Amino acid sequence: MKYNEFNIISKFFKNQQKKDKNQITGIGDDSALIKIPKNNMLAISTDTLVEDIHFLKNTNPKDLAYKSVAVNLSDLAAMGAIPKWITLSMTMPKSDAKWLKIFSKSFFNILNKYKLKLIGGDTNCGPLSITISVYGLIHGNKSLLRSNAKNEDLIYVTGSLGESAAGCFLLQKKIFLRNINIRNFLIKKHLKPIPRINEGLLLKDIANSAIDISDGLISDLGHILKSSKCGANIDLNKIPISKNLKNNFKSSQYLDWALHTGEDYELCFTIPKKNIEKLNFSIKKKLIQCTCIGYITPIEKELNLTRNKKKIILNKTGFNHFI
Ligand code: ADP
Ligand code: MG
Repeated sequence: MKYNEFNIISKFFKNQQKKDKNQITGIGDDSALIKIPKNNMLAISTDTLVEDIHFLKNTNPKDLAYKSVAVNLSDLAAMGAIPKWITLSMTMPKSDAKWLKIFSKSFFNILNKYKLKLIGGDTNCGPLSITISVYGLIHGNKSLLRSNAKNEDLIYVTGSLGESAAGCFLLQKKIFLRNINIRNFLIKKHLKPIPRINEGLLLKDIANSAIDISDGLISDLGHILKSSKCGANIDLNKIPISKNLKNNFKSSQYLDWALHTGEDYELCFTIPKKNIEKLNFSIKKKLIQCTCIGYITPIEKELNLTRNKKKIILNKTGFNHFI
């Protein structure tokens, strides 16, 4: 059966979830209406994924649906917000029922996992692209900003960096790896990044600033430095790199991935020394896994990198859409 725009909405996206108590209207009216609970801020974020730019041609709709939601949730995580609502605007070259069925099943799987409600969207015909907006709540008036890093804050990153890039290059057959298990693991890191929602919530009350690493550590940390009008010293030996990368690739290669390639969707955050004990307690309780990689300095935008106590000069800054 061929579906038109209205059939697509009603068959694959409408009435797939129960409304939550703050939702007055959802899909089916001209706008969605949401009640914002008292003493909350609304965090709003949008990301577009375009075929051939943000995801490879012929990406499985299951993976595409997961990742387009996950990368948006990562932005809410970096603000310390609780995900609540989502809108989905899709542009597709044709109405392919099989593709839509797989997409929508995977889409609602991740929505339900994070207790997100789909409240609206748009459906169009054209080159494949997915635009998602997510809406989250932040209790009180403290959130995690890029602009609040302070001199002498310690700089941390969650998880490990570079594996998503390795997975992407494996998918593109630009690199090869014999070990099928590690190969599949790295590809999964690329296709199924885990948004660090719980970590963001935990950091909201103890970190001074945060950003999610979508474009590479250098570029994203650079945003914190610029917004906060400060600099940083980073020790490259401290960048968390997994055994999967260390055992299979040269250090020049995995460091390049970790620093410049991005799509890890880990959090980079800065924390004042007075809160380190609280952070260490959470690390001990396994509520967060993170590594200290350096500290903030007062010199605006100056990023000093060292490795084995030697200064390192870099000539790249990260993924940039227009160069
Ligand atoms: P309008 O013409 O007023 O923009 P649409 O026909 O585009 O309305 O959409 C009708 C309803 O369906 C709206 O509530 C809209 O938010 C929702 N909607 C459209 N496309 C999607 C989609 N892909 N996913 C979820 N809701 C959608
Ligand atoms: Mg519309």
